[in-house]
Amino acid sequence: MSCFDFETIDRLARCVLAPHSKRWDRDGIFPRAALKILAEHGLFGLRIATDLGGSGASCETLVRVIEAIARHDAGVALTLAAHSLVCDHLRWFGTPQQQQQYLPDLARGEKLGAWALAESGSGSDAASIRCRAEKNEDGWLLNGRKMFVTQGNWAGLYVVLARTSDERRNAVSAFLVDPASPGVQAGPALEKMGCRSSNTCPLSLKNVQIADQALLGEEGRALSAALTLLDQGRIAISALACGLIRACLEDATRHAKRRQQFGRPIAQFQAIQWMLADMATEHEAAWLLTHHAAQLADTGASCGIAGAKAKLFSSRSAVACADRAVQIFGGYGYLKNVAVERYYRDAKVCEIGEGTSEIQRLVIARDLLRE
Ligand SMILES: Cc1cc2nc3c(=O)[nH]c(=O)nc-3n(C[C@H](O)[C@H](O)[C@H](O)COP(=O)(O)OP(=O)(O)OC[C@H]3O[C@@H](n4cnc5c(N)ncnc54)[C@H](O)[C@@H]3O)c2cc1C
Repeated sequence: MSCFDFETIDRLARCVLAPHSKRWDRDGIFPRAALKILAEHGLFGLRIATDLGGSGASCETLVRVIEAIARHDAGVALTLAAHSLVCDHLRWFGTPQQQQQYLPDLARGEKLGAWALAESGSGSDAASIRCRAEKNEDGWLLNGRKMFVTQGNWAGLYVVLARTSDERRNAVSAFLVDPASPGVQAGPALEKMGCRSSNTCPLSLKNVQIADQALLGEEGRALSAALTLLDQGRIAISALACGLIRACLEDATRHAKRRQQFGRPIAQFQAIQWMLADMATEHEAAWLLTHHAAQLADTGASCGIAGAKAKLFSSRSAVACADRAVQIFGGYGYLKNVAVERYYRDAKVCEIGEGTSEIQRLVIARDLLRE
């Protein structure tokens, strides 16, 4: 059950995000003030327990919120999804002390969480990361460089994954890192194709001394923890894709009814109707796959394969629907000040972030072929 009124969330996104999305996209602005308003409505603590300042909402609630936000600004939805990954890491693998220390601030959005796994030499092959954490008498010494850290320039807390032994390829551990620690340096924001209201940057860690208590979860087990986290993270990206499909469908339908050619609205041409029909069908299918995966997550059942299928389908559909939306707008869809041009660029990230489409297929095929 949800304590959220989704019409209110939709209205909130329409009022707080929609009027500014074009400018944030054009100038690559991270909308801190708008995020604060969303935080005041509890959107940064959705899955955090009520006694830690969150609303203890379900995965289904999270996907509905992300879809509603992505309908108006996919970059903001990406911020929310990345923050949620850090909250989940703490919720599932943190000690009670770590949860007490960090989750209330994360729930209120006073701190944004950023999750740093990827490196310049390690993306899909997460086990090949080179960032290291060496044990010493004061705790751990971190050294390395991370890449593609979502909200890395704005985070109040990093979860950094680092190698803690060379004996096993998978010997990776997770650490809670304060951005103000000496030796932590977030690099300049990366210039992205889309989702430009989200912030993405490299992160450098040079002799960063952290305490023993900063170890998050079991030593050497963070990669299996990451797989569990990404099972739900992918459902969130699938919801983001659904929001974009809805945006494409609504904008394209409105335009098709208004735009006149050959003396009639282009909506009367069968070619246009078929594109709209395909978009509506794909939106429903993507939405059902996403909800099915979220429902599995909520019952505690394994949701990895369902999440991979949802993300694979929804991401591909978002890219295809953005393409159709631009086509329906014709030359106007190719112009910077028309939103479908932004959706076209925003949608692509869904096929890359939190595991590329190829990796989703790998996960699905492995399950099919398992003896
Ligand atoms: C906007 C954005 C935000 C991001 N945010 C974060 C974040 O907050 N934290 C974080 O840790 N990471 C983040 N990432 C990184 C993201 O998770 C990686 O980009 C993604 O996992 C792919 O890794 P890669 O870019 O190194 O590509 P690569 O792994 O180098 O892949 C390149 C190509 O090879 C294909 N490929 C690779 N391996 C295989 C295989 N075994 N079989 C078939 N094909 C394969 C891929 O599918 C892809 O097409 C973000 C990325 C982007 C673009």
